[in-house]
Amino acid sequence: MFAQIRWRLLLSYLTVFTSILVIFAAGVRLLFARSLTQQLTDRLTALGQGAATNAEFDNGRLKVESDFIVQQLIHKNQGLEWFNLNQKSILKQGNIGLNLPLSLSKSPIQFSNKNFNIQAVVVPIISNDNGKIIGYIRVSQSLEEVDETLTKLDLILGSSIIIALIFSGFSGVILTRQAMQPIEESFQRLKQFTADASHELRSPLMAIKSNAAVALKYPEKMRKSDVEKFQAIVSAANQMTHLTEDLLLLARSEKKCDRRENSVNLTAILSNLLSLYQPEATAKEIDLKSETGEDMYLLGNAGQLTRLFANLIENALHYTLSGGTVEVTANLVRSYLIVSVQDTGAGIAPEHIKLVFERFWRADESRSYWKGGSGLGLAIAKTIAQNHGGSITLTSQVGVGSCFTVRLPSVKISDNSQD
Ligand code: ADP
Repeated sequence: MFAQIRWRLLLSYLTVFTSILVIFAAGVRLLFARSLTQQLTDRLTALGQGAATNAEFDNGRLKVESDFIVQQLIHKNQGLEWFNLNQKSILKQGNIGLNLPLSLSKSPIQFSNKNFNIQAVVVPIISNDNGKIIGYIRVSQSLEEVDETLTKLDLILGSSIIIALIFSGFSGVILTRQAMQPIEESFQRLKQFTADASHELRSPLMAIKSNAAVALKYPEKMRKSDVEKFQAIVSAANQMTHLTEDLLLLARSEKKCDRRENSVNLTAILSNLLSLYQPEATAKEIDLKSETGEDMYLLGNAGQLTRLFANLIENALHYTLSGGTVEVTANLVRSYLIVSVQDTGAGIAPEHIKLVFERFWRADESRSYWKGGSGLGLAIAKTIAQNHGGSITLTSQVGVGSCFTVRLPSVKISDNSQD
């Protein structure tokens, strides 16, 4: 149980930590990418402005000065293109040539070439004479370098996240273990206390029961009201004995070392239980049926397994009305023994299905035909099934019936001696 809580804690911690790291890394990448693009835009604008000073309007035509040696200014992955006022391309320089119409956007524009992305800025050419726009320069640069830098950044961020997660995973294991230790210790103390208290209560309860029984041996010497009081004492003492035995069993059955494991014949356990409960079923006019395969064996504690199936059959009989059916089936499916106890009783509401296995949980008393239960029967059944490496599940429909299915690992009898 605690191992499961520890793993869940660790998983939640790692999920939160991963989310924080991923959000942080995404933020860093976004800021870095923006800053790179901004730097590139500034560079391209400066280049465009420099080139614009070397263009002039001559006889109504845009001319670029012949002594302006563009190749010395621009990088191999950059390109310059001059446009006249009609947005017609009149000159191209550099390795990046865009066969695209001019777009007069003030913000940088990004294009996708076959092999790489390109960023371009458009700078107006202003006449030195009248300050009017006489044409445009489009400066473009491939984003290969920016993409490379971003890929490197992604790799660094990705590997940093993985390394941070590995370290925090290790430290998380240590921290959750440390955090759970006091809880585990106090839980163990509580369990020990329950076991000790239940054990210690046995003797006084026995004394109360035997003294009351002695008094009840001679009822004729007592007033009728006193007899009733003694009978109530015996009944209450019986209930308490039952409860303390259940609590003791729960506290002890969780200690794996306390289990004596032998090869147990499940078919024999079920058939004994069916014979035991047949008179009760007959008295209640319930059809108690069984369908079990040939001898099926598992490793475990015969007493505990008997208790598990007794609880299920007892409940099925208690919560089924006269004329109903209770059917016990057992089959070997691959290496698991599947035992189901199905009844046509009151059924359990969907919202209660998870709760039935909780300690002391009982459905609405008005729906319960049996008033004697403590609400520990199914908790005990679940603990025993889990202690034997198995599980117990429930399917139920109100007014139709319930089916408890127990799944236990089987064992071949040839490998082990019978209990
Ligand atoms: P109890 O001692 O009350 O029987 P259990 O743990 O065995 O305690 O059962 C818990 C509750 O689950 C019962 O009070 C009852 O409401 C419900 N329950 C258990 N088995 C059945 C069943 N076969 N049909 C309907 N309700 C059931």
